[in-house]
Amino acid sequence: MRIGIMGGTFDPIHFGHLRMAETVREIFRLDKILFIPSARPPHKVEKNVTPELYRLMMTFLATQSNENFQVSPMEILREGLSYTLDTMNQLEKKFGADTELFFIIGADSMIDLPKWHKAQELVSKVHFIATTRPGVVVNLAEVKKFFGNAAKNIHQVEIAGLEISSTDIRERVKNSKSIKYLVPEVVEDYIVKEGLYK
Ligand code: ATP
Ligand code: MG
Repeated sequence: MRIGIMGGTFDPIHFGHLRMAETVREIFRLDKILFIPSARPPHKVEKNVTPELYRLMMTFLATQSNENFQVSPMEILREGLSYTLDTMNQLEKKFGADTELFFIIGADSMIDLPKWHKAQELVSKVHFIATTRPGVVVNLAEVKKFFGNAAKNIHQVEIAGLEISSTDIRERVKNSKSIKYLVPEVVEDYIVKEGLYK
């Protein structure tokens, strides 16, 4: 099995996330994509992140209609900060040695990757697929140089740009602007119903 992992805060999940997952799934012939909302992302601790259950719920709603998409609450169920390495170790145990894991990240996260917790060990263990993201320029050669031999596990793929971010969506809701066609309708309805981002 070849499993793609989409990690993120998903505050809220949007079409940028969904389209990048679907594109990578096709190009890399992945059997499924596992969306894993992060509970306490180390890099967003001081920021105001929406409680995890709302983010988990929106991720479920957004992915429901795609039979190749699944959601895992594993980081939310775990104690402490959400380190990707712990998650990958847990998944390796669950799926066994004949499963290959492909962590999908956008260009902005790729730039930060060298700073992730035990980054070297992480990149040696699983594949990383970096997608392009509008407005973000990443010097991949530099990132690869940092990882040395393990850099063979880093792949780059150009995807059709969708200039959508959760930050912009939160801003829009706060300012009573439309978020139609930025998030699935079920997510939009949920945000309105729960009064999120007001
Ligand atoms: P925020 O503005 O709150 O940071 P975000 O839109 O960046 O939200 P995240 O949950 O932080 O969403 O992102 C999860 C992953 O998806 C990251 O690897 C990020 O780079 C990637 N990503 C998010 N939106 C896009 C997009 N429009 N195009 C490509 N990659 C994206
Ligand atoms: Mg982000």
